[in-house]
Amino acid sequence: MARTSYRYIDWTLGADPAQPSHRRIECADCPAASGDSPGQLGPDRWALQHAGATGHRGYRETVISHLRATPAEDA
Ligand SMILES: [Zn+2]
Repeated sequence: MARTSYRYIDWTLGADPAQPSHRRIECADCPAASGDSPGQLGPDRWALQHAGATGHRGYRETVISHLRATPAEDA
């Protein structure tokens, strides 16, 4: 009879330093969007220019953060 044993380990989840976060701002009043950007200023600048050009005042922000799971023993 074969015998099997399992070993369970703890994992941690944190930011992946090799993958920068990206931001996108979408207009809530029309389909226009800033596009993905790793910086803060690009999407903000786009939204302010869009507000000035169209008068649209509602916006949604999406932030994409890359995470990495690591065995707790390696931390
Ligand atoms: Zn708009």
